[in-house]
Amino acid sequence: MKWWGWALIACTGLLLALILSGSPRNSGELGLSEFTQAVREQRVKTADIAFQGGTALVSGRLTNGQPYRARTLPADPVLKLGTLEARGVTVTYVAPPRVSVLGALSMLLTLALIGGLIVLLIRSRNGANGDAAGTFAKSKAAVVSEGQIKLTFTDVAGCDEAKQDLQEVVDFLRQPDKYHLLGARIPHGVLLVGPPGSGKTLLAKAVAGEARVPYFSISGSDFVEMFVGVGAARVRDLFEQARKASPCIVFIDEIDAVGRKRGMNLQGGNDEREQTLNQLLVEMDGFGSGQDVIVLAATNRPDVLDAALLRPGRFDRQVVVDAPDVRGREQILRIHARKKPLDMSVDLGVIARRTAGMVGADLENLLNEAALLAAREGRSRITGRDVDEARDRVLMGPERRSLVVREADRKVTAYHEVGHALAAQLLPHADKVHKLTVVPRGRSLGSALYTPEDRMHHTRAALLDRICVALAGHAAEDVACGEVTTGAQNDFQQATGLARRMVTEWGMSEVGQLALAQDSGNYLGFGPQPTSYSDHTAEQIDAAVADILNGQYARAHALLSEHAHVLHRLTDELVARESLSGEELRTVLAGGTLPDLPGAARPEAPVPQGGTLHPEGA
Ligand code: ADP
Ligand code: MG
Ligand code: ZN
Repeated sequence: MKWWGWALIACTGLLLALILSGSPRNSGELGLSEFTQAVREQRVKTADIAFQGGTALVSGRLTNGQPYRARTLPADPVLKLGTLEARGVTVTYVAPPRVSVLGALSMLLTLALIGGLIVLLIRSRNGANGDAAGTFAKSKAAVVSEGQIKLTFTDVAGCDEAKQDLQEVVDFLRQPDKYHLLGARIPHGVLLVGPPGSGKTLLAKAVAGEARVPYFSISGSDFVEMFVGVGAARVRDLFEQARKASPCIVFIDEIDAVGRKRGMNLQGGNDEREQTLNQLLVEMDGFGSGQDVIVLAATNRPDVLDAALLRPGRFDRQVVVDAPDVRGREQILRIHARKKPLDMSVDLGVIARRTAGMVGADLENLLNEAALLAAREGRSRITGRDVDEARDRVLMGPERRSLVVREADRKVTAYHEVGHALAAQLLPHADKVHKLTVVPRGRSLGSALYTPEDRMHHTRAALLDRICVALAGHAAEDVACGEVTTGAQNDFQQATGLARRMVTEWGMSEVGQLALAQDSGNYLGFGPQPTSYSDHTAEQIDAAVADILNGQYARAHALLSEHAHVLHRLTDELVARESLSGEELRTVLAGGTLPDLPGAARPEAPVPQGGTLHPEGA
């Protein structure tokens, strides 16, 4: 701020102090009851009474010589001449005090100064060049014109699936005409979803770098201002600029700041945010032909987003940017080690293996800490010791520690997921396994993904296989470790739900070919829903459901016991690699071996509970 800005602040402060110190409170103002009491106790010597409007202003001296002031109603009995004189008070009636010219002037001056200050503040926020109101509504987007982003997909590692998904966006931006000629409708909006630090912002930039188009980036929180309407104006301005620059990319980082579900605010709604969100929706709907603007957005909380944002024509594509597995972490480490001189003792493969649970941002931080340590000790190369120590430091951070899953937990999770996958692979009617992983995602410690086959009808055999697969995770824990964990809750829900529907909706049990389902759609009452069948039938249903579940659990258990050696081998591979593709799973199942992990020798696989459970190489 310039010198006169500071002078302005100083003057305002001085004047305010003067006005405040001159206020009547500080010159012996008595409360009404204080004054009444003083009169009653004959402590008041003189009283000058002035009537002004609806109040009586009293001032004078107390018997001890102190000045005082008080204000009351003109009709107050204490003011009666008789009352006052009876208490020995000398009364004078005076004209009401006029508002002093000086006071009024100083008040005006202060107001002017405060106004000046506000203008000054707004200007300095907007880069100080003129037209305050105008610049306020301009979008704060950082614009990078084409060819300036040197980042490409090779700078992002460990999220190959996300890159594949985004390749289509890149293709379109490079040659939009190819798509236009075919009349293809291209997605307007792509939502990048993933935990913090997994590289969403980086990936969005890389898309722009790959496509060589202009890139407008803005953070969701930049839209949310204290003045209503500014956010919406910024959105309008941003998209106006983007349309002129088409084809281009608009990237809205942390979109949950504007995109939260509407109408959930307890203080009666946040008008500003809603207006901004509405404007965003309007702009996204308004893309016409020839306007090749693709909006990328990133969030780690897709669950809080307003459903309207996810509708077709808006952010209808989601690209998941997960935390990397061990191979991904090694590639990320290679990227960030490019410009760092590493000693021979640093093995990135080993570091990758020891940093389970870390995301790209953590790994970058890790190497940076290691470099700092080496520099502090005056070495010219980073050693393995530096990296180890840096790892401890990074993990020491409060929120990171919980991320690194305990080794034993990971092993049990791996058995569980392999159990699902193995059953799915061995049973004839189950969906084929696409990928299984022990990289935590959301609240689950691991997951198995299937390629569902499109079927119009499900046969009884296929449904039983699906139930068997769902229960196989739990069964695998029992087969391999002899005890089970609480990780199978969701599996049980799924299996039980399927079994119940088989009995009550699809007539696939001894209970009979009846439609026994409760019509839950229209039931709005409280308490248990009325049923259309007897208690006896209800018992039969429960028994039939339990029959199915127990039968399939026994089947899963037998299947996995029979293939216990593959179960163990697959689990070891999964613990070492953190994720396995369907191909790799089938290779191991067929008795083949997987190529060694790049970088280091195989880890000595730890055995969780006693070596006997672990027939290695059987
Ligand atoms: P997000 O936006 O998902 O929170 P960022 O993209 O801001 O994460 O990542 C922060 C930094 O971490 C990046 O600038 C980059 O240096 C590093 N990083 C994160 N993920 C990766 C990755 N997959 N490959 C390479 N570097 C990464
Ligand atoms: Mg980010
Ligand atoms: Zn499971």
